[in-house]
Amino acid sequence: MRAVVFDAIEGQPEVREVPEPSAPPGGVVVRVMATGMCRSDWHAWAGHDEITLPHVPGHELAGVVASLGAGVERWAVGDRVTVPFVCGCGRCDWCRTGQAQVCPEQQQPGFTHWGSFAEYVPLHAADTNLVAIPDPVGFEAAAGLGCRFATAYRALAGRAKVTEGEWVTVIGAGGVGLSAVMIARALGGRVIAVDRNPAALAVAATLGAEHTLLTTAVPDVPAAVADLAGGGSHVTVDAVGSAQTCADAILSLRRRGRHVQVGLLPPVDGHPRVPMARVIGWEIDVLGSHGMAAVDYPEVMALIAAGRLEPQRLIERTIGLSAAAELLPVFDRATVAGMTMIDPRLA
Ligand SMILES: [Zn+2]
Ligand SMILES: [Zn+2]
Repeated sequence: MRAVVFDAIEGQPEVREVPEPSAPPGGVVVRVMATGMCRSDWHAWAGHDEITLPHVPGHELAGVVASLGAGVERWAVGDRVTVPFVCGCGRCDWCRTGQAQVCPEQQQPGFTHWGSFAEYVPLHAADTNLVAIPDPVGFEAAAGLGCRFATAYRALAGRAKVTEGEWVTVIGAGGVGLSAVMIARALGGRVIAVDRNPAALAVAATLGAEHTLLTTAVPDVPAAVADLAGGGSHVTVDAVGSAQTCADAILSLRRRGRHVQVGLLPPVDGHPRVPMARVIGWEIDVLGSHGMAAVDYPEVMALIAAGRLEPQRLIERTIGLSAAAELLPVFDRATVAGMTMIDPRLA
């Protein structure tokens, strides 16, 4: 099969013929029809995750079951499926209680094993992790769910528990941030979107942001949010992951507000400082969010099938494997207003 492979950390990825994977016991092989590229793929390429080389990235995928490993009960060849980027083991207490997103034995395609920038991808514990794609939902919309959209949904609905009329400030209007804007609106929130890219903010406005703040023009984000939201936001999301954005988000909250940290904070320059004095004095809840378990997908799929959420609107472009290999090393610098989708059937 064709796959995007790199042989060294920060080495140039290339499209290469590699052996087709075989289904692990309890797992499946999926023929990839759509797979998103996200900053996490760049982090793996840049050496911020433990991976084995040579490596095939890719963790936001949708496709068709191509073969079954021993013991798979719920799935058949030909089923249209997607999968969370965190795949639980299916056996531990966390998995058995519906919290596979924090499974200690988790597998992540594109990190713990070869991923979906390829024609085929192996997936573990299929009965725990696979999610059926309803007929009205396309492969690209479903692939768009796997990481950023599902993460944003869990962050706002599952962790922050946004309610009607609350102010939600989203810092970062990339894939996860724009997903958060759309989802916060669908939950009845009033959204302030913050970014340094005017084009991304324009998209945020079309997705329901009531206000947008361009950081190059508004240096004091917390003060601006306090003005707009009558003393501060009820909920903030840092969808970027830097000391600055994390602090801006926490300091933009009103007393007893809830902050969800979604953007990865890799310890490249030491772990960033968090304004803990404010967290203590104002009783701020600081919440982590890590993907979404397969058992929580059906409610999101139902909202998509009903047209109330439209992740496909976040897809900016679809490219082939060769273009993906070119794009990965510069993806941290790419200014795209939305998601980049890969179709492995393209060159
Ligand atoms: Zn588990
Ligand atoms: Zn991702």
